[in-house]
Amino acid sequence: MHDPDCLFCKIIAGAIPSHRVFEDAHAYAFLDIAPFGKGHTLVVPKFHAATLFDLPPEELAGIMPALQRTATLLKNRLRCDGMAVMQLNGAIAGQTVGHVHFHLIPRYAGQPAGWAPLAGAAKAEATDFPALLRQILG
Ligand code: AMP
Ligand code: ZN
Repeated sequence: MHDPDCLFCKIIAGAIPSHRVFEDAHAYAFLDIAPFGKGHTLVVPKFHAATLFDLPPEELAGIMPALQRTATLLKNRLRCDGMAVMQLNGAIAGQTVGHVHFHLIPRYAGQPAGWAPLAGAAKAEATDFPALLRQILG
């Protein structure tokens, strides 16, 4: 299912550019434009659904291998020390884009691990997307 007015459907279709980390038949993973940590990646189903509650269970199951595979890729390539997985539903929960998505947020020992976009030098490093993609995809 595709919603022509949805930002993430447009990204999946390639109508809006993104920094792709991984893709399979069910899921598309790309770097978050305002990272909370270096390598912050969004994993989204190719099936359009606004929230977790709207996603058919088989579509949810379909994206789980991509979620794990992308997390593993980030862990191995970025050598992070841990990883947060975050998924928000509804504006009151902080959801800003109405296409269900999982955040993968790599965490590093000795570095800030907050729930907001990075600032300063950490932001500069985490938003050098071409360099990050080279590191992740080799
Ligand atoms: P949420 O608050 O859970 O709805 O997360 C939406 C996420 O989408 C935020 O972390 C944004 O930084 C991210 N985002 C919004 N537009 C884009 C875009 N064009 N490319 C990559 N990430 C985006
Ligand atoms: Zn969509």
